[in-house]
Amino acid sequence: MIPSIYFDMAIEAFRLYGSELIGAFLLGTFINLPYVKRTLKESFSFLSAGFYALVVRDVVLITLMFWPVVLPTYPLPEQTVEWAMLGMTGIVAALFVVGAFKNLRLYFSATFLIPVLAILLGGVGIGLSVLALPPEFIAQLPLMYLAISLLLVGISFYAAPTTREGDTIRGMGTGFVVLGICYVYLLIQLIPSVDMITILGCYTVTMLLSMATQVRFSNGRVARLEMALLQESNTRRELWDISPFPIIISRVRDDTVLYLNPAAQQAFQLRKGEIFAYRLVDYFVHAEKRQEMTAKMRSERVLSSFEVQMHHPKRDEILWMDIASRPIELDEEVALYSTFKDITERRRVAELLQRQASTDPLTGLNNRRQFEVMTHQLLRVAERYGSPYSVAMIDIDSFKKFNDTYGHDVGDQVLVALAQTLKQTTRQSDVVARFGGEEFVIFFAQTSPEDGKIAAEHVRKAVENMPVEVNGKRIPVTISLGISGRGATTLETLIKQADVALYHSKHNGKNQVSLYDQVVASDKGNDEAAEDGQVSAAVSDTVDVTVKDEKQDVAPVVPEASKEAGVHGKKGAS
Ligand code: GH3
Ligand code: MG
Ligand code: MG
Repeated sequence: MIPSIYFDMAIEAFRLYGSELIGAFLLGTFINLPYVKRTLKESFSFLSAGFYALVVRDVVLITLMFWPVVLPTYPLPEQTVEWAMLGMTGIVAALFVVGAFKNLRLYFSATFLIPVLAILLGGVGIGLSVLALPPEFIAQLPLMYLAISLLLVGISFYAAPTTREGDTIRGMGTGFVVLGICYVYLLIQLIPSVDMITILGCYTVTMLLSMATQVRFSNGRVARLEMALLQESNTRRELWDISPFPIIISRVRDDTVLYLNPAAQQAFQLRKGEIFAYRLVDYFVHAEKRQEMTAKMRSERVLSSFEVQMHHPKRDEILWMDIASRPIELDEEVALYSTFKDITERRRVAELLQRQASTDPLTGLNNRRQFEVMTHQLLRVAERYGSPYSVAMIDIDSFKKFNDTYGHDVGDQVLVALAQTLKQTTRQSDVVARFGGEEFVIFFAQTSPEDGKIAAEHVRKAVENMPVEVNGKRIPVTISLGISGRGATTLETLIKQADVALYHSKHNGKNQVSLYDQVVASDKGNDEAAEDGQVSAAVSDTVDVTVKDEKQDVAPVVPEASKEAGVHGKKGAS
């Protein structure tokens, strides 16, 4: 059972300090919450510290009230309560006064101001009490400190420079004035019997005013943020508008265009009403490229370069565009910000150069270099899958005579006509090229040498029937062909073997097709015949040429060399 004396003392403690303690604690906590400009925030921190110091003061005073009852054997020195009251109220008042200053570098100046003020106020009080002034006056000093410092804070809030927070701050200032007046009331003891209620009431009013202020603070802050956002978004659009590069912003969800700048409007030649008429994908010549772009973005997030063919969705003219793209947020939507660089001209020049480097200007066929590049790849594929292939070497018959008779220009005309016929009589998958001068070459993909011979025969006939007219007179053009394929895996060997077969055609009367394998087989027959001394001079000449060329590379012909040496040797010997 708690002795009733404690109960009575607790009521007395609450009457004297309790309501102030609770009010100061709540106000100290609330006042520090609003977000405001930095210097104001500092000011609020000191006010808040002041209220916490007041809480501490009240706790100390309550403790001292209970001291004589709880520890009667250790009496407190004389005037302990008064001095504690004066000293600690001095600290509280110092914190309030410092909090009243705004637009000072408070954290810095407070380091000096607070101790100076606290010592001054506390020291003056204690000094006065030592000077034996009327004890009534000494007892009122702490209330005076509080009343004056709180009024100072309230007034300072009114005097605050007119900022955007100015009005709201004044609301809070009113709260402090009310609190200051409350302490003045206590001081002159107009209503001495209800001081507890007065204090609670004052603190409540100040709390309400401070809370209202804080609501206004945050409302103002939201409004300002919204305004800032709007301004930023306007600025952003203005910047996009003047960009010399086309910009399109599309909604990620469905590719709908959310924004399209004037440069893009111009690049795609859009009329006013068309700006939002199409989706981003509609500008792509190949819709699957749009998907490829999305896939690329999924892995890289930001796309720095994506070259693609684009167009006005309703027109044919194609633009090559280099796209850079990244996701952004626009009007609360996930959007794709894409800028475009027109590289049509660059691509055109690059393609032209590529074409010039790979084609023969007279006939438009692949040149020798391009033929080598393309067949190299085809040979690798054929080798891997074991599929057949063959090569035809083509040479125009007696072309020199042709040039001599009709002139070089007509010769060129024949070359062009021949190139056309070759293209027309071969498959898309075959590679046709001008090998040099009046020699042409065809790579037959997926075609055995036997089938290649049939195809070549078809070509030969087509050339024979090819209409080339000079001065209204049709002039006959024929070609000789040599086919190689099986057994040779490098292009070099294939060409050399086809050449051997070609020479065979030439020396057997031209305008015909020869197959390398058959030539070699028949040469073997000749070989045997040669031993019987029946080699014709023509054939031995041909083989001689072949041997000179093929000595190293074409294995099947190598025996010819020794054979020919033998023939000549025989000749020489005879
Ligand atoms: P053969 O039947 O044995 O092939 O006899 P040919 O006269 O055709 O002899 P060859 O194949 O050695 O002839 C090459 C000639 O082709 C030499 C040159 O006058 C002619 N020629 C080479 N390139 C061109 C060209 O670009 N335009 C023209 N008009 N003639 C060319
Ligand atoms: Mg030739
Ligand atoms: Mg020729």
